[in-house]
Amino acid sequence: MLLLSLTLLLPYPSQGQAKKNSTLTRIDILNRATALNLAPVGTLIPDIVIDLKYATRDNFTSQSLYPPDMPCLLHRMTLSRLKQAQKILRKKKLRLKVWDAYRPPTVHRQLWAAAKSSTYLVPPEKGLSLHCYGVAVDVTLVDQDGQELLMPSRHDEFSSSASSTYTGPNKVILRNLKTLQKAMKKAGFSTIKDEWWHFTNMEAASAKIITAQQLGIQLPGKSTRKAKPVPVAVPITRP
Ligand SMILES: [Zn+2]
Repeated sequence: MLLLSLTLLLPYPSQGQAKKNSTLTRIDILNRATALNLAPVGTLIPDIVIDLKYATRDNFTSQSLYPPDMPCLLHRMTLSRLKQAQKILRKKKLRLKVWDAYRPPTVHRQLWAAAKSSTYLVPPEKGLSLHCYGVAVDVTLVDQDGQELLMPSRHDEFSSSASSTYTGPNKVILRNLKTLQKAMKKAGFSTIKDEWWHFTNMEAASAKIITAQQLGIQLPGKSTRKAKPVPVAVPITRP
């Protein structure tokens, strides 16, 4: 059972003389990802837009938590579902934009340390986000020019506006949200109530927590810069 499989995997098994993580190329990292059932989103869905917020300072911590060349990865089964969603949206001349996909457990813990909100963030001692399994994805919609469509809130906006049940007066926002949700649900994703951008696909029974070390991803060093004291919207509801 996926939800009970919270035990961290052992370090990636070496094949003969394993390379040190510091010497890994992007191809090495992607090969490791493949061996762990993760696949690069942009390879399978070339017209998707990837904008990993945690690879920039444009997130609630104001720090880059991923390296700038962080690969956008998902469990291969979840990625297959995302491809279906993009296919549905393509007919409407729309595209998905990915704000977050696979997330290393270390980053989950950094988010928790910055936010400490058990309302929106899984306390690390109790578990980890489904992003750490590669079976959750944060997405919004963009048009063919890459312009974001109006949605209820920004990514990681901690307010009632982030609800997946929009109750505001703006019919354009409601229509955009429904279009996204309809495509994602039809492709096999579930929503959670507190984050309209967060979708999960639980069919990958083999999914396990994967660490940055296993993949050979070098995460940025810890910054002493103080994070904004606001909670973060990270999945806690596990359908
Ligand atoms: Zn999420």
